[in-house]
Order: sequence, then C-alpha cells, then structure tokens
Amino acid sequence: MALPQDFAQHVKSVADIARIVGESVRLKKAGNNWVGLCPFHQEKTPSFSVHSTKQFYYCFGCGAKGDVFRFVMETERVDFLEALKRVAQRAGVPIPAERPSAPATPEQRQRAKLAEIHEVAAEFFRKQLQSAEAASLRELIRKRGVKPESTDEFGLGYAPSGPSALANLLKKEGFKQEDIEPSGLVIRRESGGLVDRFRNRWIFPIKSESGKVIAFGGRALGDDQPKYLNSPETPLYSKSRTLYNLYGAREAIRKANRAIIVEGYMDAIAVHQAGVTNVVASCGTALTSWQSRLLAKYASEVVVNYDPDSAGVAATDRSLSLLLEEGLTVRVLRLTGGLDPDLFVREKGAKAYQAALDEAPPFFQYLVVRALELHGKSTPEAKLASLNFVLPYLSKVPNSLIRSELMADIAQKIDVNSGVIREAFQKAAMSQREAIQAPAVSLAKIPAAEAMLIRLLLEDAAAREEIHSLLERSDLVEEMECGAIVSGLLGMIAAGVEPDLTALADRLTEPQQRLLAELAFSKDARPVSHSEIDTYVHALERRRLGRQRDSLKRRILDAQKAGNHTLVVELLQEQRELDRKLGELL
Ligand SMILES: [Zn+2]
Repeated sequence: MALPQDFAQHVKSVADIARIVGESVRLKKAGNNWVGLCPFHQEKTPSFSVHSTKQFYYCFGCGAKGDVFRFVMETERVDFLEALKRVAQRAGVPIPAERPSAPATPEQRQRAKLAEIHEVAAEFFRKQLQSAEAASLRELIRKRGVKPESTDEFGLGYAPSGPSALANLLKKEGFKQEDIEPSGLVIRRESGGLVDRFRNRWIFPIKSESGKVIAFGGRALGDDQPKYLNSPETPLYSKSRTLYNLYGAREAIRKANRAIIVEGYMDAIAVHQAGVTNVVASCGTALTSWQSRLLAKYASEVVVNYDPDSAGVAATDRSLSLLLEEGLTVRVLRLTGGLDPDLFVREKGAKAYQAALDEAPPFFQYLVVRALELHGKSTPEAKLASLNFVLPYLSKVPNSLIRSELMADIAQKIDVNSGVIREAFQKAAMSQREAIQAPAVSLAKIPAAEAMLIRLLLEDAAAREEIHSLLERSDLVEEMECGAIVSGLLGMIAAGVEPDLTALADRLTEPQQRLLAELAFSKDARPVSHSEIDTYVHALERRRLGRQRDSLKRRILDAQKAGNHTLVVELLQEQRELDRKLGELL
C-alpha cells in the first residue's frame, strides 16, 4: 500500500512550510526567509531559518534541517506516511485512495525486488525450522527459553546446511541472478554459481521501521565462525540506521514514552518475553547517531542495558553522549551478577528484571560510579581524573538548570568543591566553543563565481541546463571548494528531478550542510542573472589555469636549479600553452 509516487512532491510544492512550521514556532519575516527560536535546541537568539520557496529549514545553532515532512515527523513524532497525510490535510490537498504504486526509478525497482526476495527468504527460513534437519535447533530454542509465540512473533528460522538451498529456491521463484546477488543472501562462486550466505544457522529476520524484512542475522549452530553473521550493507539495509525490533516495539515505546536498548537479538527477545515490550537492540557495538535519532522520534527516555563485559561498558559510555545530544533522558541499567539481559531473565525471572529496570539510575549517577571505578578519589589527581571523565558528558546536557544541579551532585560524590567543577566546566565549554567557531570552510572563502553558480542552480530553473552542460564538459567541479554541493545538484538535474535541499543535505558533511544553508538563506545577495553564467564559468577556469601556472612556475625553477635543460624546455612549452588558454578566456 502506498500513495501515488508524485503525491509527496505535489503536497510539498503546495504546502507552505513557513505556515506549517509557524503553527508551533513563532516565526518572524527576514527578507525572503523566516526566522525563529529553534524547536530542536534551547536558544535565546533565533538561529532557526525557514525558506518558503526552497521548502527547507535549517538551524544555524544545532544543524537541524529538512523539509516540511521531516519537520512534522520530528516535532510530532510520526513516520513519513503519517507526516505526509498530516501536511496534505493542513495544505488542503485531498488524499487519494491508497493503491499499490508502480516503482518508478531503477533504484526503487531494485529495492522493491530486494524486498520481495527478503520476503521469500524469511518464509523459507521459517519453514525450514520445522524440517528434520532443524531438530537440534528446535531443542536449543526450547532450552534457551524462547516461547513458541516469540518464535512466531520474531519470525525465527533456520538456514539449512545445503550449499544453495535458498539460491535455488529464489531462482525457481523466477528471480534473476542479477536481482538475487545484491540481496547479500548469496555469495557468487568463482565458477559463477551462487551459494547461500547463511548455512546451518539460526536465523533472526531484521525488519525496517515500517515492518519489511530487510536483512537477516544468523547465529552459528556448530563451531562455525563468526558466531554471529549479518547481512552485508545493501540498497535495502544499512546496519547503522537500523534497530532490531523497532517495528515490533514502536507502539509500546510511544505509549511508555520510553525505550529499552539492549545489545543482541536474544537479549531483545528475552526482555520482550519478560513483558517489557518496548525493547530494541542495537545489534552491533555502540549506538550510532542515526539510531539515537530514530529512538528520539518515539520516546523521550531511553534505558541503556548493555552487557556488563568491558566491550558492553565501553559501548554504553559512547552511546550515552549520543543519546544526551538528542535531548533524551537517559538511565543506565547494569544487571547484578555480571549477567546480560538474556541470562538475567532466564536465571532471575521477569519480575526481577522489571524491578531492576525501575531502579536503573539516571545516567549521571552511572557516570560518577564509572568515574570512581576507573579513577577513584583517593588523591587530588584521582579526583581530577574522575572529574574529567564526567565533564564531557555534562556539556551535552542542553538544559543549564539541570546541568547546574548535576554539578552540585557530582561535586559531592567525587568529593570536590562545586566551584572547582564550575570552573573546569567553563574552561571545557570555552575550548569547545572555540573549536566550533573555526569552521572548515566559510562562505567568505568561497570564490564569488562558485557561490553565484550554486545560487543559479538553486533558484533559476532556466539556467540549470546550461550550467549542467558547461560544467559537465569541463572537470571543474572536482576542483571547486563546494564540489560536493555542485555535483549533488548536478546529479539531481541530470536525473530530471527538482533540486531538493533536504535530499542534498543528507549527502553532505556538516560543514558542507552549513555552507549550503548559508547560500540558500543569504539575504543581501543581489539577484543573479542568467547571462552571467559564462562569466562565472570562465572565472573558475581562469582560477584553475592560474593555479596550474603557479605550480608550473615552481617546477620550472626547480628544473633550472637542477640544471635539467630538457625538462625546462618542455615545461616552458607547457607554460606557453597555458598562457594561450588563459588569453582565450580574457
Ligand atoms: Zn537548533
């Protein structure tokens, strides 16, 4: 079920982003843009900007950005489809009857094919769990305390040991080899034949946020290595952007306004069986920022319950700052007896787990305990080391009142004067601010011609084709300061789609995103005219040739010093050629 392909595009072009944002943020007009206090971070002077015609918002304070749909998704905590419906409604666009849509682009077609393949595979693994070959796995599942309902709910399965059982089935179902290979479920032999990636393994299907199977995890049953094998990254699946069981848990998470995050598949299943259904697993080492953003969509509190081994503790420490940055309230659950959640539930029962959960301390209490474990407080140096362990996390707490209360508490526990903490914190905050104030590239450093071309690409539909063909013929883009922005825009133009700032920003680094926003929101820039394109492209070419000439000059000097006359003659010839080209551009 899906809405027609171009419906979202239509809604976006009709909806007034400033009006919809303005329903929850007080916006003031500033030139062509609107500005207001950012709803995603705390601030006193407005750095949140909204551009009506470019359909884009950007916060110069915290880097929050996106289009009208993302704004609704993040402020109202709904998924894309729901955001689309809400925006359509507010913009007065009637919502067409939902129908299965024909995938449009080759990329979408491939993803749809891969989704079908995963559906067939999931069904295959599930059925194989009932086969004679899987008898010992069924026994293992029973011994591990996984209930039959959970086996169904989590779609657990078995990958048989025969080398190509799944590959053969997929071919029999009519999938072509070139469709099957990118799924990552098979590996191509040197002879060209396909073998299954998962063989003789216990299978855990991994679903997307919307409930489609997009990958699998496979636990070894014999001594095979690795113990846990995952699908590789595919067009359908990115490990760092996926949380295991998010689809199954999201309603419970929303209702409880709290998510429990554990490490592995078995932990998630065990905790779920203990009656705590708002649980997801990160299924990797540490949490990624994408995953913590995903959680922040559904809840404002997260309980981190990683393994008590050293890797798990390190992962907890790293995950904390990401979660705090998303403004989440974080608590840390460390289970007694050095048990992971799966073992704990099996040995101590569901009630004991729920009780432990209720008593999980807030993150800073956990941090102080960790700091004292690591460094102690027996000497002034030890106290300082403990303090330095805690401070970086403290700086991630957005609210200053909460921060100052935490400082007092930490001071008492580490046994230092709270004035010492305040001073150390201010120093740390200071050096952090300095780091932030030195951006990698600033708009002032971008050649004017480059900035103008980008503005034309963004604003002037008529100029796009011409710029596209001029730049395509040269290799100027690679040498541009904003090469990533320009090539992203040219890619969209080549694909025949309207340049979309949200999609573009997602492909850029943070300094580049900021630059793009500065270009898009620049207020006092004069209007650019179509007829200036040649001038700008020539200016960039001159700049490049000038650079080449400089380096050539250096090489000529070197060759002269070395007495290499043949090389000098050659290089001088090159220089004449460059000068001729430069002359043509004047
Ligand atoms: Zn912000």
